[in-house]
Amino acid sequence: MTKQLTGTKEWACKTVNVCMGCSHDCAYCYAKSMAIRFGRSSVGTWKQQTALPAKLLEAGRGKPTRVMFPSTHDITPECLDICMDALRRLLAKGHEVVVVTKPHLECIQAICDWFPYHRDKLMFRFTIGSMSDAVLKAWEPNAPTYEERRLALQWAYEFEFQTSVSCEPMLDTHVEDIVEAVDADVTDTIWIGLMNDVKQRLTLNGASPEMHKMGAELIRQCSREMIGDLYGRLKDNPKIRWKDSIKKMLGLERPSRAGLDI
Ligand code: SF4
Repeated sequence: MTKQLTGTKEWACKTVNVCMGCSHDCAYCYAKSMAIRFGRSSVGTWKQQTALPAKLLEAGRGKPTRVMFPSTHDITPECLDICMDALRRLLAKGHEVVVVTKPHLECIQAICDWFPYHRDKLMFRFTIGSMSDAVLKAWEPNAPTYEERRLALQWAYEFEFQTSVSCEPMLDTHVEDIVEAVDADVTDTIWIGLMNDVKQRLTLNGASPEMHKMGAELIRQCSREMIGDLYGRLKDNPKIRWKDSIKKMLGLERPSRAGLDI
């Protein structure tokens, strides 16, 4: 039987990370839930992002391939130096790097400044799950505002980097408004996906009763009917890609090789 790929494997063959914890502290974070489950972190300590210099060696290893960086933390001002070091090693090795981030403008400006000759090998994929700062603040308490993410996208686009947006997880039902707002500054793809394993992750991550209520409401809103209608309206947009959660819900074909869905 062919194994269906999910998560980061849809985008890349390999992931590289150089920190433990993430100051954005998103309520739905998969990396946080796994770190808590396996005793590497706790509800209270996850937001203390710590650089792991020993992990830099992994960035310079292996045959050139498509790498997602980072996948279990984000690129934040406090860990920018080690992230730049990792990017330097990845690009020097000849990897194609997809930088996946809830972008801090100062970090994106620094990356654009430092890697102007790697435009062909470096793609930005900015996560924007809602245009509402109230919604972003509730789910992703320490991540940048919508406006900062939009400015970062514009910046990367104007510097002629390859750009992409990930509306995964969708944090409300206004994803079409995001698509319309970002379309002109996206050179590559716009990904749409659902929040996975909501109750389990919120429980492991120590979410408040209010967050559990928001999670239940989000599940209710993202019904098969709503997602089917969304698919119908956006399926002819050549930039739109559907994450595994949506393909599974709608019975669409799913990739079977890592990094095939780009
Ligand atoms: S930005 Fe990513 S890694 Fe960081 S807490 Fe949020 S989901 Fe987790």
